[in-house]
Amino acid sequence: MVLAVIGVVLFLILVLVAIRIGLNREVVQEEEPATALIHASGIYSIVRRNPREELLKIRPSEEKIRKYLLSQNEFVEATQDGLKEIDVLIERWNESLNRNIETIEQGDKDGVEFYFYEFTPVECPVCLNFFRKGNFVTRQQIFHYPRIIPPFHIGCTCCIIPHHGTESLKDTTELGMRPLFLNESPPPLPDWKTINKQPVL
Ligand SMILES: [Zn+2]
Repeated sequence: MVLAVIGVVLFLILVLVAIRIGLNREVVQEEEPATALIHASGIYSIVRRNPREELLKIRPSEEKIRKYLLSQNEFVEATQDGLKEIDVLIERWNESLNRNIETIEQGDKDGVEFYFYEFTPVECPVCLNFFRKGNFVTRQQIFHYPRIIPPFHIGCTCCIIPHHGTESLKDTTELGMRPLFLNESPPPLPDWKTINKQPVL
């Protein structure tokens, strides 16, 4: 009888141990994909993940932009010129979106840690109400807040440029090189519905 009880107790202990091992294994498996995304770079561990998917989720689609532009008084007559202007604005939007994502894709290959804002071919009057040329962000901030990747609004001429220097921009005294973030979260940025027609020549 006693032997039987001991046998049952031992069996239960073995079952518990087996369950425990099984649980630990599951936890380890869950953690693996997250650690695979982290690449040690300099003194920082930067999470680099292609921002395309996240950015496309938060930016309006081409159809949404077209619909919005067609609802605006300045385009509502839908004259030949108005429709052409809408096409140009959408083309520029797509170009800018792709160019900025490609800049980050290339930057990730090169190990870029900082990016700064630039305007091309001309300064964007809408963005100038929110930040300045030369304001910089870290790759980590881009990972956490993909919405800091331009274009910010229709007709936006803002783009990001990789910073290839070895010095940390956080310590730089270079004129105009200031962080975009004043605290943990990004500052207000333009509403995508604000139209800058200036670059349409
Ligand atoms: Zn802009």
